[in-house]
Amino acid sequence: MGVGVDVHPFASGRDLHLAGLHWPGETGLAGHSDGDAAAHAACDALLSATGLGDLGSVFGTADPRWEGACGPDFLQETARLVREAGFEIGNVAIQIIGNRPKLAPRRVEAEKVLSAAVDAPVTLTATTTDGLGLTGRGEGIAAVATALVIRRLP
Ligand code: MG
Repeated sequence: MGVGVDVHPFASGRDLHLAGLHWPGETGLAGHSDGDAAAHAACDALLSATGLGDLGSVFGTADPRWEGACGPDFLQETARLVREAGFEIGNVAIQIIGNRPKLAPRRVEAEKVLSAAVDAPVTLTATTTDGLGLTGRGEGIAAVATALVIRRLP
């Protein structure tokens, strides 16, 4: 089992990329890459479960290859590394914490994109914090994820 958490602040003038989807008309998130907190949390959960490190140590914000990379790109490469290390991926669960965007109408679509990137079931849920904290004040979006991996038999 592994856990991952990520937070990105909103940044006006950027497109929103979240949970592997583009969200037209929504405020984007700041970040070295596309700021997809949901995908990043999922990557960290997979890396955590396998002891491979974390997003910062594996991809490195200084590496120009990943500048502007999209969430599914990170997830696909993370899943490759996990399998290369001798694990199968059981599932990944992500919860997004924030006021906007409203996830429900596009939840199934996002799950399809994320599951395709990982090549294992990825489920998505969302919640708010009743106005409390940085997500409640609408300053950004947070995400928490867990991942289950199974060591492949030799
Ligand atoms: Mg991030």
